[in-house]
Amino acid sequence: MLNSPVVPVVASSQGNYNPDNSQTAQWVEVLVDCPDIPGLLTYHLPSEMTVQPGDILSVPLRNQIVGGIAIRLVSSLPENLSENQIRDVETVVSESLFPPRYWQLLEKVAHYYCSPLLSVIHTALPPGLLGKSQLRIRLKPDVIPEGATEFCSSVGVAVLRLLQSQQTGDYSARYLRQQIKGAQRGINELMRRGWVESYLQQPQQSRPKRQKAVLLVGESPELTPRQREVLEFLRRRGGELWLTELLQACSTTSSTVSGLEKKGCVVIQEQERLRFAQTPDQELDQPKTLNHAQQEALNTINALDGFQQVLLHGVTGSGKTEVYLQAIAPILQAGYSVLILVPEIGLTPQLCDRFRARYGNQVCIYHSALSTGERYDTWRQMLRGDPQIVIGTRSAVFAPLPKLGMIILDEEHDSSFKQTQRLPTYHARTVAKWRAELEHCPLILGSATPSLETWETPEKYYLSLPERIYSRPLPPISVVDMRQELQQGNRSIFSQPLQTALQNLKAQGKQGILFIPRRGHSTFVSCRSCGYVMECPHCDVSLSYHYTHEGGTQSLRCHYCNHTQLQPKQCPACGSPYLKHFGTGTQRVKQALEQEFPDLRTLRFDSDTTRTKGAHRSLLNQFTNYEADLLVGTQMLTKGLDIAQVTLVAVVSADGVLHRSDYMAAERAFQTLAQVAGRAGRGDDPGQVIIQTYNPEHPVIAALYNHDYRRFAQAELENRYAYNYPPYGKLILLNLSGLDALEVQQTATLLADVCRSKNEENQYEVLGPAPASVMRIARRYRWQILLKCSRTEGENQLSWLTDLYQFCPKNISLNIDVDPLDMG
Ligand code: ADP
Ligand code: ZN
Ligand code: ZN
Repeated sequence: MLNSPVVPVVASSQGNYNPDNSQTAQWVEVLVDCPDIPGLLTYHLPSEMTVQPGDILSVPLRNQIVGGIAIRLVSSLPENLSENQIRDVETVVSESLFPPRYWQLLEKVAHYYCSPLLSVIHTALPPGLLGKSQLRIRLKPDVIPEGATEFCSSVGVAVLRLLQSQQTGDYSARYLRQQIKGAQRGINELMRRGWVESYLQQPQQSRPKRQKAVLLVGESPELTPRQREVLEFLRRRGGELWLTELLQACSTTSSTVSGLEKKGCVVIQEQERLRFAQTPDQELDQPKTLNHAQQEALNTINALDGFQQVLLHGVTGSGKTEVYLQAIAPILQAGYSVLILVPEIGLTPQLCDRFRARYGNQVCIYHSALSTGERYDTWRQMLRGDPQIVIGTRSAVFAPLPKLGMIILDEEHDSSFKQTQRLPTYHARTVAKWRAELEHCPLILGSATPSLETWETPEKYYLSLPERIYSRPLPPISVVDMRQELQQGNRSIFSQPLQTALQNLKAQGKQGILFIPRRGHSTFVSCRSCGYVMECPHCDVSLSYHYTHEGGTQSLRCHYCNHTQLQPKQCPACGSPYLKHFGTGTQRVKQALEQEFPDLRTLRFDSDTTRTKGAHRSLLNQFTNYEADLLVGTQMLTKGLDIAQVTLVAVVSADGVLHRSDYMAAERAFQTLAQVAGRAGRGDDPGQVIIQTYNPEHPVIAALYNHDYRRFAQAELENRYAYNYPPYGKLILLNLSGLDALEVQQTATLLADVCRSKNEENQYEVLGPAPASVMRIARRYRWQILLKCSRTEGENQLSWLTDLYQFCPKNISLNIDVDPLDMG
């Protein structure tokens, strides 16, 4: 290994990508995991080594060994490189990590979303696959001279001592860096002297974890009611559950369970997996007999050949999931895998359960909340190519399934399929389409409220499930004009019709859902005397008031940066003690319910109450176990809940979703409200939906009232067409932010000028620069430039956009959002 630092030579990327030249290739272009090297580096292949694109390599870089991915094999060197500048690949850490055509997909994503390939790779690959975390440093004890420490700097000595303290003289570079400030300098120094060497650790299969499981073994006459409940729950779940799951599902403590153990009803033991997970066959749920529309849809899907797009437009509760379940059976049988993308795993425990119940171990869940080890294992297991079902969120569109037979996007309209905060700003639906094209397999898009984007796609099969299962009616929707309520002297949050419905709920033993667009208690706090509004010190937004229960802390919180402070006793501007809370959040509604309907038991379901792992599931379990009459929650309620006992759904105030400023506002409002309404009446008892609003005439409300998606889509598409908005035009949003207000503004002006200067043929419109609608978040000032063009221009002509990064000073960050959903 070379000891002198070598300046890396960045190859120009002219080398033609040719996967079949492995015979003649002597060199390989490698993407190294090192943020300051944007391009590919060329390395020499030692004579006995064979490398394929996609292999993970370890290569020397400067004076380290780092991880890298083989991208292209080349048989001739670019002109600016001479052979003696080039170093050898050290080892192949792991072979063929990627299925064929995978790189094409990643390159397409990088190109379309104006992102560096490395950012796409970081999105697609499990973390730690390439990361320096695997880089280890070990002593070469034989060559370290006596009194070595006298030659070294203090940090060099510290590193040496730490390594020597370990019997094997070996630590990960990351650990060294954590323990010793400035460790990298010390490592470099020792490396220069040849006293230590670095190597890449092969990623390890993590061992199956042993966890505590609870087994039902007997009965006892002397149980407390709580113990009896827990035991009954365990019985319903097949007599065996993980302890943690049981505790969560029953919201109970381990002392209750150990009480059951003492009475001989259960045993608690460590296991690797649950028994029924190993022998799923007897437990598997059977396919349902489809109704006519479902059968037609299934027939069409089964007959598809090669790449086709299908929109499965089924009203809420029409049995789309059952169609997916049956559509994938022949694909698996033919030896192919299926990828199912869902908006948020945490919110769709029911969907995952249904696939598990039907397909048992063939189902694998892949999402970012898995630990690094779990993700890595899942990744390797997907690569094996056994037919399987992968259910995952957005980034699972990159799951490395070598034989992909179908992609399904459930709730395809959901905005969480779009990544906005980080590059690449990809939409999983767009990427799924490219992937299905590359793999020659069908893409199924399912929704009750399709995105207008999908609705307007010309080349697609349209399949409709117009009715609910068993022809259950869609719940009737009543719209309540809150202005009239006020005129009639009703100052409660709840209108007369809603009060009546809530009273009946308890009497009839049914359950209900109250939807509130916002969490917290109130949306803003202002002074009655001078009108001063409490604002976040770091963002240009008002603070929300949080107050969960009588006597609790009254705090103010920023929903953008999470800044939290106590509510002051007096107005900071005029000293008046009269502060008023405006707007209605989940906490306030829950409190109002407790005052006005003390009999109703309520559960709050929002991002405050579901922060911990598994909290969604346990709250929903509590609800389905009748531990509450009402679920009070935000946006999360709109996603996929299928609870038969829910008859009443009420939107406490629709205005919070109706009035937003960007071009998608109406579409999103319709989708949200229609999805919430769709939670009612899914069982045998008819449902009822009450929507309270100060704007009953709003077109979204009118379309909703009639369950008329088509009418809504038509009207909204006319608007979009008139302004050349998507799905007709194409938008690219340039987001700039930085700590210095002036610098951000100046850079925005500069970039807008660059955009205008490139626009010789008037292919696009440049709007702005303008301050973002919230101009400051977490102390960063934000400006935007919007480009609007036709679809084809956008795909082909704007490749210069990536040059814009070069015009940005170091302190300013630029995020190019291609096809933005949110203009905020
Ligand atoms: P969607 O996904 O369209 O909202 P689901 O697939 O969740 O609808 O179906 C709603 C309910 O109807 C579920 O409880 C499901 O088990 C049930 N269901 C679906 N298809 C059938 C069928 N053909 N026969 C009987 N029940 C069905
Ligand atoms: Zn005041
Ligand atoms: Zn803030």
